[in-house]
Amino acid sequence: YASTIEADLVVIGGGPGGYVASIKGAQLGMKTVCIEKGETLGGTCLNVGCIPSKSLLNSSHYYHLAHAGELKKFGILVDNVKLDLERVMEQKRNTVKALTGGIVGLYKKNKVEWVKGHGKITSPNQVNALGPDGSVISTINTKNIIIATGSEVTPFPGLEFDEKQIISSTGCLSLNQVPKKFIVIGAGVIGLELGSVWQRLGAEVTAVEFLPTIGGVGIDGEVSQAIQKMLVKDSWNFKLGTKVTAARRQGNDIIVSVENVKDPSKKEELTCDTLLVCVGRRPYTANLGLEDLGIERDEKGRIPVNNRFQTVVPSIYAIGDCIHGPMLAHKAEDEGVITVEGIAGGAVHIDYNCVPSVIYLHPEVGWVGKSEEDLKKEGIEYKIGKFPYLANSRAKTNAETEGFIKILADKNTDKILGVHMICSCAGELINEAVLAMEYGASAEDVARTCHAHPTFAEAFKEANLAAYFGKPVNF
Ligand code: FAD
Ligand code: NAD
Repeated sequence: YASTIEADLVVIGGGPGGYVASIKGAQLGMKTVCIEKGETLGGTCLNVGCIPSKSLLNSSHYYHLAHAGELKKFGILVDNVKLDLERVMEQKRNTVKALTGGIVGLYKKNKVEWVKGHGKITSPNQVNALGPDGSVISTINTKNIIIATGSEVTPFPGLEFDEKQIISSTGCLSLNQVPKKFIVIGAGVIGLELGSVWQRLGAEVTAVEFLPTIGGVGIDGEVSQAIQKMLVKDSWNFKLGTKVTAARRQGNDIIVSVENVKDPSKKEELTCDTLLVCVGRRPYTANLGLEDLGIERDEKGRIPVNNRFQTVVPSIYAIGDCIHGPMLAHKAEDEGVITVEGIAGGAVHIDYNCVPSVIYLHPEVGWVGKSEEDLKKEGIEYKIGKFPYLANSRAKTNAETEGFIKILADKNTDKILGVHMICSCAGELINEAVLAMEYGASAEDVARTCHAHPTFAEAFKEANLAAYFGKPVNF
C-alpha cells in the first residue's frame, strides 16, 4: 500500500541543487522530503560528473608525470611505469561511494527523509513517488515543492550510445581499456577534460569542434588560444570550424564524417576506435507532470522561473540544470540555498556574473565575470593587468611556470570586471577573484591586500597591481 506523508517541503532530485536545498530546508525547520530515483544521492555531479571526472583527471595526471619522465627534473627516477586501469577505476569508485554515502549521513543528521522513487507532481501541493513499474509508493502532501531534476546528455542524431565505443561522458568515465584513436565531438568543457584523461593515459585524441574556438561559452579568447596551444603540445589534433555530420561502424572502427562549417563542400572522413559525443546537456523534466499544471518549458526545454525561482505555480520552484544559466554544480547549490531561504521569507539574491567557471586541465583554467570579447561588445572601456607564472616564485619552485593571470578592470573606476587565468591551481585561485568581485573590489584593493609568500596567489595580486598601477613589481 502507498504511504501518505505530510511535509513542508518536497525536493524532487538529490543532485547538488536538490540535496543542498533539502538540507537547508531541514535546517530552517521545514519537514523536508527528498525524492530521488537513483540508487544513490548526489545526482550527475557526484555519480557521473564532477567527482568521477576529477578522480580520473588526478590519476591520469600522476601517470603522465611518471610515464613521460616529468619527475626526472625533481631527481625522481622511476622505471618501468605501468598503468593499472582497474585500480584507477577503483580509486574513482571509492571516491564516489564515500561522497554519495556522505549525503546519506548528512540527511540523517539533518532529518531529511529520502524517498527512493520517481517524483511526479499531481497538484500544487502534492507529489507522488512512483516505483520502477509506475505504481505509487508514497503520496506526499506539502506546502512547497522544489524541482531539481537536472539534465541529461544531448544525444547526437543518428548515433546510438553503446557506452563502449560510441560513448557519452558516462561511458567515458568507465572505459576498461585505453582507446588508441579517440575522437571527441565538441571541444567544450567535457571534451577537453575527458579527452585529456585518455590522452594522458595513451590515446591519440582528435577534437572536432563546430566553433572556431575551444572551451565552450564565456571563455576569454586569449585563454582559449592558450589552452589550444598547450594541448597541441600534448599532441592533440584539433579540427575547428568543423561539424560532425554522421558516424558509422566499419568492422571494429568508427568512421566519422565531418564537413567544414564555412565551406560544406570540404568533407572528410576520420577513423577512430572510440567516439565521445559531448555536444552539451539538456534539461531533464520527463514525466514530472508539468503539462497538467500548466508549467511550460522554453525552447531549450528549461523551466521558466521568476527571481525567487518560482514557476507560474507559486508553490512550485525550480533550480539547477533544469532552469536558465550555466549548468554547474556550484550554481545549482547556491540556487538551492537561496530558494529555500526565500520560501522561509528571506531575501533571494544571486549574481550570475560572479559564478566562476573552471576547466580542470593541467594547468587549470578559471574565469569569472566578463571576457575581453564581452567588454568590447558592450562598449565598456577597460584596462588589462597581466602577470605570467614564469615570474611567480612558487611556480618556479614547483617547475609549473606555464600560464598567466589576467585582470580586466574598468578604465575609469578600477573596478574588477573579469578575471581569467590558465595556471596551476587556477581552480582554487579563481575563488579569490570571485570574492573580490562579490565585494565590488577595485584592482588596487587586491593589490594592497597582503598575500603570503611564496604562493601562486601572489601572481593574482601582481596582476591586479599591473591593472591599477600599470606595472607589477616582479616582472
Ligand atoms: P543533477 O545533478 O543532474 O541531479 C538531478 C537528480 O534528479 C538526479 O539524481 C536524477 O536522478 C534526479 N531526478 C530527475 N528527475 C527525477 C524525478 N522525476 N524524480 C526523482 N528524481 C529525479 N559541474 C561543475 O560545477 N564542476 C564540474 O567539474 C563538473 N563536471 C562535470 C563533468 C561531467 C562529465 C558532467 C556530465 C557534468 C559536470 N558538471 C560539472 C555539471 C554538474 O554535474 C551539473 O551542473 C550538476 O550536477 C547539476 O545539478 P542539479 O542538482 O541541477 O542536477
Ligand atoms: P559544452 O556546451 O561545453 O560544449 C559542447 C561543444 O560541442 C560546443 O563547443 C559546441 O560548439 C560543440 N558542438 C555541438 N555540436 C557539434 C557538432 N555537430 N560537431 C562539432 N561540434 C559540435 O557542453 P559539454 O562539454 O557537453 O558539457 C555539458 C555541460 O556540463 C556544460 O554545460 C558544462 O558546464 C558542464 N560541465 C562542467 C564542467 C566543469 O565545470 N569543469 C565539466 C564538465 C561538464
